[in-house]
Amino acid sequence: MIIEISNEPTRDWSEMPEAVHRISHGGNVGQVDATKVPRYAGPATFARLPRIDEVGRADAAVLGVPFDSGVTYRPGARFGPSHIRESSRLLRPYNPALEVSPFASLQVVDADDVAVNPFSIDEAITAIERAARSLLERVPHLLTLGGDHTIALPLLRAFAAAHGPVAVVHFDAHLDTWDTYFGASYTHGTPFRRASEEGLLDRSGCIHVGIRGPLFADTDLSQDAGLGFQVVSAPEADSLGVAGIVQRIADRVGDRPVYVSVDIDVLDPAHAPGTGTPEAGGLTSRELLGVLRSFARLNLIGADIVEVAPSYDHAQITGIAAAHVGFELLSALAAGQNAS
Ligand code: MN
Ligand code: MN
Repeated sequence: MIIEISNEPTRDWSEMPEAVHRISHGGNVGQVDATKVPRYAGPATFARLPRIDEVGRADAAVLGVPFDSGVTYRPGARFGPSHIRESSRLLRPYNPALEVSPFASLQVVDADDVAVNPFSIDEAITAIERAARSLLERVPHLLTLGGDHTIALPLLRAFAAAHGPVAVVHFDAHLDTWDTYFGASYTHGTPFRRASEEGLLDRSGCIHVGIRGPLFADTDLSQDAGLGFQVVSAPEADSLGVAGIVQRIADRVGDRPVYVSVDIDVLDPAHAPGTGTPEAGGLTSRELLGVLRSFARLNLIGADIVEVAPSYDHAQITGIAAAHVGFELLSALAAGQNAS
């Protein structure tokens, strides 16, 4: 049997419901209108925002990095970007806590995934840095969905190239300033040591939040301090409360350009079971979202959300938490830009 393949278009793509029913605000193209197209229909971009090739310009781009060859324990964060996008379908356009509509104030787009080599960490890091640098030439702010935490290093290289050394607010159960694993320098437990060694960090403005669990030795903490980090541990976060954590971060970073890195394992496993190296005794999602809302006051340049591993997730608990983290970060960016 011969199958004839026609070059005639079978469908006018400009008439697709996602293209027709978008919420627009001034010059900005927003989400697919959920009153016209059900939330569960159509392809899952982040928050059902337009793809980068559908609009002429963007203030912020969501970029996926499906890479997890740097993990030391349970793998699976390579499926994080698609899981977070799928879990972000219910995000509505208005943020009442910050009184902002982030996708109206800013043109936010989904920039798809970086095609990373799963067999070569060196090649993957090079590809991630190249992709981030080329996006940053067109779009001033990036929100990256990982992927394991290895990806923070090439992202910080790209941001430091654009801004100079940056302050980092790092949410994580783990310090991620260890030196090597099995002789390997580039792993998900080492990105912030490499970044500090490479001069990518403003050592007077970096802070970890949510650190907990057993370490290898007390020198883990003293070496970490030498690399430029203050620590708000999870037990300290508990006694400080959201307002106290916010103050500690604001005091540390001031008006420096800030990169925010959210390892989803900063949340308690009850709030984020879908991750590779869970530690008991973490933050609640309510606490994390509350802290992120205060970032409207910071000079945000970029962020990542990493270590979401859907094969250990249940009922999208972790994916939904990550999607809301992304929404609060974009809202804080929009609120900050509106204020300035
Ligand atoms: Mn971690
Ligand atoms: Mn981490």
